[in-house]
Amino acid sequence: MKNEILGIHHITAIAGNAKKNYDFYTGILGLRLIKKTVNFDDPHTYHFYYGDEKGTPGSILTFFPWEGIQAGRRGTKQVTEIGYSVPAGSLDFWQNRFEQHNIIYNKPAVKFGERYLTFLDPDGLKFELTEAKVKDTRPQWETAAVSKENAVHGFHHITITTNKMEATAAVLTQIFGYKLAETEVNRSRFVIDTVEQANIVDLVEAPGEAIGHVAGGSVHHVAFRVKDEATLMYFRDKIVEQGLNITEKIDRNYFYSLYFREPGGVLFELATDNPGFTIDESLDELGHNLKLPAQYESIREEIEGILPKLT
Ligand code: ZN
Repeated sequence: MKNEILGIHHITAIAGNAKKNYDFYTGILGLRLIKKTVNFDDPHTYHFYYGDEKGTPGSILTFFPWEGIQAGRRGTKQVTEIGYSVPAGSLDFWQNRFEQHNIIYNKPAVKFGERYLTFLDPDGLKFELTEAKVKDTRPQWETAAVSKENAVHGFHHITITTNKMEATAAVLTQIFGYKLAETEVNRSRFVIDTVEQANIVDLVEAPGEAIGHVAGGSVHHVAFRVKDEATLMYFRDKIVEQGLNITEKIDRNYFYSLYFREPGGVLFELATDNPGFTIDESLDELGHNLKLPAQYESIREEIEGILPKLT
């Protein structure tokens, strides 16, 4: 069996108000809430997972909503943009939708030969919708408002901003197996060929840029995808060989993971495909129930009383 990184597994970000977050991602953006659970370290806070129908790795965006949290600031040592892939010709739909719903966006632009539309979520988290050159065949989640002609397919890329990209690039190329594909001005595009989608990391080198502050509206970490636990441990050894600190294997109920801070300052995670989100809910039911890890079942009533209502 090959030991491979399979692109992005999930991205985790920080939000403010839980209901606003839920309404934006399920309503405006048309994603499926695939898991509603709590922060395992802070069970009075939600942990939302949004994705496609099944919560396929490469489509999963997760949030910790903390009411009243201060706003973060984009800068270096951060994932500064999250890119989704959308069908060709759908950017007009999205631009109209953002206009109607008072979402902050920029007019479409082009980079690496692809049209994209930038927008901010209610907490200021920055996104791009990209009409990808390579046709994206990943099945989409459809809602009454966002049908298949326009719905997002899953991640296209992430952007990391850095003063000097060398050390981060070395992790991507020497440990993970990404290759530098293209450079436009100060943006270098790294691509991994083990998967067709969610396989791009852009490094933006901005020598004068200040360090960002990770808080509301910021990405907390990005998780890269591996097939299983054996592969996870193979990469753990590789990372330790490079002299980097990394956690032990952690059971996140829906995947197994490891965390390490890459030398450029961004928190990276490696996460497995197994066991997946249907381990404690059927495919139809995904996201409908508040799922608690075993250690918190005894205080379910208390937790349910404290968590904000979503409807
Ligand atoms: Zn994670």
